[in-house]
Amino acid sequence: MITYEEALRIVLEESHVTGNETVSFTESAGRILAEDVYSDINLPPFDRSAVDGFACRSADLGSALEVIETVRAGVYPQKKLFPGQCTRIMTGAPVPEGADCVIMVEETEEIVPETIRFTGQKIKTNISPMAEDIREGALVLKAGIMIEPQHIAALATVGCVNPRIGIRPKVSVITTGDEIVEPHVKPGISQIRNSNGYQLTAQALKAGVKASYTGIAPDNEEETYRIISGALQQSDVVLLSGGVSMGTYDFVPKVMEKAGVDILFRTIALQPGKPTIFGKKGDKRIFGLPGNPVSSFTIFELLVKPMLWKMMGKADPAPGMRLPLGGGYERRRIDRMQWFPVEFRDGKAYPLEYHGSAHVFSLAKADALAAIPLGIKKLSAGDLIDVRPL
Ligand code: AMP
Ligand code: MG
Repeated sequence: MITYEEALRIVLEESHVTGNETVSFTESAGRILAEDVYSDINLPPFDRSAVDGFACRSADLGSALEVIETVRAGVYPQKKLFPGQCTRIMTGAPVPEGADCVIMVEETEEIVPETIRFTGQKIKTNISPMAEDIREGALVLKAGIMIEPQHIAALATVGCVNPRIGIRPKVSVITTGDEIVEPHVKPGISQIRNSNGYQLTAQALKAGVKASYTGIAPDNEEETYRIISGALQQSDVVLLSGGVSMGTYDFVPKVMEKAGVDILFRTIALQPGKPTIFGKKGDKRIFGLPGNPVSSFTIFELLVKPMLWKMMGKADPAPGMRLPLGGGYERRRIDRMQWFPVEFRDGKAYPLEYHGSAHVFSLAKADALAAIPLGIKKLSAGDLIDVRPL
């Protein structure tokens, strides 16, 4: 049995960027940027008015000002300002030569047509200087970030319309178990609806990869072999759920070996998620996840997602944070690191009602998973804990 930290180290060491491709920036949200992006322009490109008003010389504000020109956004001023003059200017327009401030319309009055006077108390500049936001050639976005809508604005602004992006690995999700029926079926007395096949597929899609749900493999060695071999051929990553424990019908480890998979670990000192198998075959990666839906969910978040993000080129594949625990938490056994569902309230993480690894409804309320480290029996309210937001 290895620790979670060791398992994560192995998974990340064994995962490599699938490759890069050029994508339209309009389709790049949720994907990983594969190149540093620089600005091809200064922003603002000129000294820009931040308000609607009159551009003038602050030294002249005590006297009447003659309006010599009107400048709107998108038009460049034609006239230089001399003492006693001003230019009517709109927000976003270039400030004319000779002006050192823009007074707001609200703080002026017209004395006679095209002659105004400052009525305000304090003089503010109201000019955004050229290149205040970014200088031509400066770094705008770093390779390795996940592209969010605000990054789309940055790409658009610097004209990076075809960024290099990490290729999305193809993931196949397989569930196992003779007792499993699909969700549209009312389960018989000894049957259980397949929740985690769809949960895992949704987790993979949310992580940004291409994912497809393959179906249910029965607890039968030949069938399981056929399905695993097929999935390994068709995808970069195979995720199996169930069939990884010590039961008579848990064929997954044996079948993985028969399919030529090199198994890198079989158990982790984790709760839930102790029987987790990770292996590789050439450049394919395969996980055998525990069958209970909270277990498979947790291991996806803790190990599979970091692997997929690393394969897409994400610089920080396992982001977490530290938050104070909202209430006390105590447990009996301390031989494994434990993760439990929490909700966020008032800047703290509160443990949710949780009956164990089949309790999907606890996860449905969770904002994050929180950890109690191996060897620790008790946490008190206010203790800082590791948290993985979902
Ligand atoms: P296993 O590891 O195959 O022994 O499965 C552990 C537990 O998880 C059993 O109670 C299974 O019925 C349950 N389980 C397995 N696969 C699924 C699934 N796809 N959806 C919901 N529960 C499952
Ligand atoms: Mg099973």
